[in-house]
Amino acid sequence: MKYLTAALLLFIIMAGSCEEKEPTETVLHPDFSLTLSALSDLIEDQPVPVKNAILARPEYFLELISEALKLPDYTLVLVDKKHGLLPGDKPEHLVSIFDYGLKVSRRDLQVRASVVPDLLAMNEAARQAGLELVHSSAYRSYEYQAEVYQRNVETLGKEQADRESAQPGKSQHQLGSVIDFGSITDAFADTPEGMWLAEHAWEFGFSLSYPDGYEDVTGYRYEPWHFRYISRVGTRLERDFFNGIQQYLLEFMVLYRTSNY
Ligand SMILES: [Zn+2]
Repeated sequence: MKYLTAALLLFIIMAGSCEEKEPTETVLHPDFSLTLSALSDLIEDQPVPVKNAILARPEYFLELISEALKLPDYTLVLVDKKHGLLPGDKPEHLVSIFDYGLKVSRRDLQVRASVVPDLLAMNEAARQAGLELVHSSAYRSYEYQAEVYQRNVETLGKEQADRESAQPGKSQHQLGSVIDFGSITDAFADTPEGMWLAEHAWEFGFSLSYPDGYEDVTGYRYEPWHFRYISRVGTRLERDFFNGIQQYLLEFMVLYRTSNY
């Protein structure tokens, strides 16, 4: 009887401890080894709204991350003042925007071919809203960016040049997946096209890289004309989990890739 009670007690203790462990030890998604506690540790230093959004829907978050990891590298690679591209980094297949019948301010504008389907879809949606988007700048080579930056340093001084233009290798334009629209001035934000893009670009995978009020995060002042294609999965992640801030998403992807999960 004594042994039976002891065995029963042991069984209850073991069962109890198993039950307790269950919620934190379960792997959240088959593509990852992440448990809820490991995910919480991974995102510990993220901004509070980002952390809260991820922990509210961790399985859905990892489902989107899993899809994002299948995208070509250029889609979500971080390119900013600290993370640069090499002079030889050039898109494999560039095409002319003008050749697709889109409105351009210069005929030599080029983008990555893989951006075109969603770019055309976005232009069509704008057209249906009675607007015509003007494409004013797109792919820039490392060498071209070096010229732009040097010119800005000469006319504006280094400090202001760094706020307004990227050093060679540090421009998102080198990816071939970025487009500047309209006048490329602050006034673009208040035009019908600028307002339409701010509201709808994400639906087609385009993300405003440098939003208003985030210069300390992105390194750049507000650029209402500068949109980077990060795919529809990317903009879904950005909106649902990263507070609408592209930089937060791209920094998380770096963090994830350097983790062991
Ligand atoms: Zn730009």
